[in-house]
Amino acid sequence: MEDATLQTELMGFVNTDMFGHSEFRPPQKEICTSALAQHDLLAVLATGSGKSLCYQLPAILSRGVTIVVQPLLALMEDQVRSLIEKEVPTVMFTGGCSSNEKRAILHALKEQTIRILYVTPESLMTDTELRAVLSALHGSGHLARFVIDEAHCISQWGHDFRPEYGRLGELRDTYGGVPFSAFTGTASKKTTKDIIKTLRLDQADKFMGSSRRTNLNISIIEKKEGMVIVNEGEAAVSESWAQVRSFIIEQNERDGTGTSGIVYCNTKEQCEKLATWLMTQQILAGYFHGDLQDFERSEVYMRWMQGATKVVVATTAFGMGIDKADVRWIVHHSMAHSLDGYVQEIGRAGRDGNDSTCLLLYSAQDFNKLAASLTNAQTQDVGHERLKIMKEYCDEKKMCRHKKIAMYFGDVNIGKANCNSKCDICRVREHTTSKKRRKTEPVVPTTARSRSQKARKSM
Ligand SMILES: [Zn+2]
Repeated sequence: MEDATLQTELMGFVNTDMFGHSEFRPPQKEICTSALAQHDLLAVLATGSGKSLCYQLPAILSRGVTIVVQPLLALMEDQVRSLIEKEVPTVMFTGGCSSNEKRAILHALKEQTIRILYVTPESLMTDTELRAVLSALHGSGHLARFVIDEAHCISQWGHDFRPEYGRLGELRDTYGGVPFSAFTGTASKKTTKDIIKTLRLDQADKFMGSSRRTNLNISIIEKKEGMVIVNEGEAAVSESWAQVRSFIIEQNERDGTGTSGIVYCNTKEQCEKLATWLMTQQILAGYFHGDLQDFERSEVYMRWMQGATKVVVATTAFGMGIDKADVRWIVHHSMAHSLDGYVQEIGRAGRDGNDSTCLLLYSAQDFNKLAASLTNAQTQDVGHERLKIMKEYCDEKKMCRHKKIAMYFGDVNIGKANCNSKCDICRVREHTTSKKRRKTEPVVPTTARSRSQKARKSM
C-alpha cells in the first residue's frame, strides 16, 4: 500500500475510533494532511468547526512530542482531560504546577512517554528547565511540531493580545526545522499579517475560513444616556439599562424564557450593577469580570452553561473558550474597543446555526470614554486606530454590516451585498424600497386589486 493511502486510512481510523466522528468536516482532512507532511500551516477556523482535532490527530500520528501553546488554563484542562480519556499521553505544564509535578513532567518528556504537551506561552518562553528538555528532544529529532492555538493573541490588533505570544517567533531560531501550526477562530487582515510575520509563516499552507455568520441578526441603536423610572415606586435607573431589559424581554417573548445571552459592558462596576438590577427585574442574571476569584468565575460559568443563570453581564474577560452552542443573543451595552473584538464577541451567539440576535448600544459619550482610557503609550496608537475603525462601523449608514465585516476581515467570499435582512441597514433599505414600490404601483379599485391578488395566489 502506498504511503499516502496508508496515511489517509490511519487518519480515518483515528478520527472514527478515537474521536468518534463518522467523517472529517472540511477542511480538517486537508489540515491534518498538511501537518503530517511537516508543512507550516495557518488555519482560521470558526469555533465549533473542530479546530482541536486538526492538531490532536496529527500529534497522535507523529513521531515525538507535539507542543501546544494555549493562553487559558480552562481550555487546556478540558482538552487534556478528554485526550487522557482517549488514552493519549498528554500533560499540561503551567506556572501553577508544583515543583514535584514539573519534575515528573520533565522526566516523562525525557523518557519520550508524552505525546502532547500543553503549555502556557509564559512557561514556554521563561522556564529554563523545560527549554533544556525541549532542546534535547529537538537534538534527537523528537520534537514533532509547535502548535500555536488562539494565535490572534500575537497581534495587538487581536483583542486578547498577550506579550509572551509576541515572542513565540524566537522559537523558530532555537528549534530550527520544527514545523509550526497556527490556529485562530477569527483574524482580520491586520491580525493575520502579524501572525504570519511573527511566526514566519510566509510559506505556510493557509486555510482561511469565512468570517460570514449568516444566522446572526445584527443591529446598532442609539444608546440613551438619561435616567428613567421603569416601574412605579422604584428608583430611577440609566435609560440604557432599560434598553437592555426591554431587549431581553423581547427575546424571551420570541424564543421562550429558557434562552441564554451575554451582555458586554466596559467596566467591572457596570457589570455588577447592571446584573444586580436585572435580578430585581426577574431576569436570572450573573456577572463576570477579571477581578473575581477563579472559583467565582467557574461558578458563574457553570451556572450559565447549565441554564440556572440565563444572562451573564460581563467584561470581555468572559469569552475565549466558551463552548455553548445555543447562545441566542449578545448585547453590547457599550461599543466594543475594536471591530476584531466585536466580531469575536458576537460570534459567541448562534453556534448551533439557529438565528440569533446581536444588538449594540452606541453613543458618542462611550467613544470618548474609551478613547480617554487609552493611556498605555506602547499600545496607544494601535488602540486609537482600532477604536476609529469600530466607530466607523457604528456610524455606517449605507453598507450592509455583514459586508463591512467581511471586507475588514479580507473575506473573499463576500458575494453580492445581500444579507437577507440580517442587519439593520439592509432592513431599513428594503423597507424603504418596498414602500417606494408600493407608492409607484398603479392605483386600482379595491375590488379589482383583490381579484388580481386572488388570481396571483391561485397561480
Ligand atoms: Zn445587511
